[in-house]
Amino acid sequence: MENIVYVGRAIPRMGLEASPLANPYTIKKTKEILERNDISPVEELIRPTSLRAYEWGLQSALEQCDNVQHQEMNRLVNIAIKHGSLGLVCCCVGKEEDGRILTEDDCHAGIIKKFILKELKQ
Ligand SMILES: [Zn+2]
Repeated sequence: MENIVYVGRAIPRMGLEASPLANPYTIKKTKEILERNDISPVEELIRPTSLRAYEWGLQSALEQCDNVQHQEMNRLVNIAIKHGSLGLVCCCVGKEEDGRILTEDDCHAGIIKKFILKELKQ
């Protein structure tokens, strides 16, 4: 199970520690960002904005070397190479939100996957 990695925020009741790659842009924080930019935080905008902010933040972190995100990303790439597969686990996939089931595309894990695949192609 070494190639199944939790990438979400801390869930103490499940004994899960926060991943260095957890999305810091919570729904609450994302609403604040939208409001600060005079954008009405309608429900459909919040999750995509959170993901866009996450992607931008991860990209910036990966452009530098000395940070926990970069280290964790290298660790994940090495696991993927060693096992030939890697499962990224987050608590949001499969949950119901606004009447639909969330998929990998709704989750920051999809963005992590994209960066890992890019790394593996190099
Ligand atoms: Zn998620």
